[in-house]
Amino acid sequence: MAAGTAIGASAIGWDLFSRGLSATAAGTYLRPCGDVRISSSWQGHKNRNPPSGEPGTDYAVTTGTEIRAAANGVIVDRKDSTTTATGRYLALRADDGNYIRYLHLQSSLVPLGARVSRGQVIAYSGASGFGSETGYGPHVHVSLWIGGTPVQLGFTNSVDFENYVDPGPYPPPPEDPVPLHKSTTYSWNTVVREGVWSRIPVTAGEFFLAESSSAIKETGDIALYIGAVGVTKGFQLRAVAESLNSSGVVVATSPQPAIEVPATAATADNSWTYGQYSLPYFLSGPIRLTAQIRTLNAGVRVTQVVFKKNYWQS
Ligand SMILES: [Zn+2]
Repeated sequence: MAAGTAIGASAIGWDLFSRGLSATAAGTYLRPCGDVRISSSWQGHKNRNPPSGEPGTDYAVTTGTEIRAAANGVIVDRKDSTTTATGRYLALRADDGNYIRYLHLQSSLVPLGARVSRGQVIAYSGASGFGSETGYGPHVHVSLWIGGTPVQLGFTNSVDFENYVDPGPYPPPPEDPVPLHKSTTYSWNTVVREGVWSRIPVTAGEFFLAESSSAIKETGDIALYIGAVGVTKGFQLRAVAESLNSSGVVVATSPQPAIEVPATAATADNSWTYGQYSLPYFLSGPIRLTAQIRTLNAGVRVTQVVFKKNYWQS
């Protein structure tokens, strides 16, 4: 660490935490949560349209799963707010000089500047991002840069963490399909009828959160964010699964449990009330999923509908 200043001034942008110039870690890093399903590979992130701003490996784990340090090193960055696409994160400067970031955390267990050991539990996984605890489906995203920092090297210039992990006693994870992502923001700007369930459009004329057919199954996580004004008592949100017959006619509906969204304090001045509804789902057969709102007072205007989902089709 004493040599940090000199290393920090070198042309390739090592920072104060770098210990050497060797960047060969192949086969030594620990996966964050052991042998779990990879829901999106580094290459899968690059293949998105548009490509991910920070490619990495997504490990599908439920919120609250222990995340272990990939290598011995020092915590060089820590973000505790859910804002932006990263949500909460921790960054580890491994002793080999490489830079590793863990995104979408529920919480971090180690302070900035802490020295950590390979395998030490440093955080709990979550789904944080976009100002929400559930900006995504639950997973941990791991990014790796060879030397430097994301700022120095460019956020998109990461390398595939999976090429550097210790395969361990487990067989390699199977190749999984890259998840698809959908995100829309719609200014609905409509006063909804009091006391009855009304369908919520996710964009103009489009009411379906997800659809499956006899040929295509769909698995995923949806998150719906509602912004409304004129809320004095509150409103409710729910998803409803609709089963279709072979002619495409709805033959059965299955409402999911509703959530209650209380009015924001001081709504007399027409300030916004926000509601958030999240649902993991699996659809098989001719089924589609819609969202509904029921208001508890008259005059509620839903101004904005933000819809996000990560999903897989099979
Ligand atoms: Zn990711």
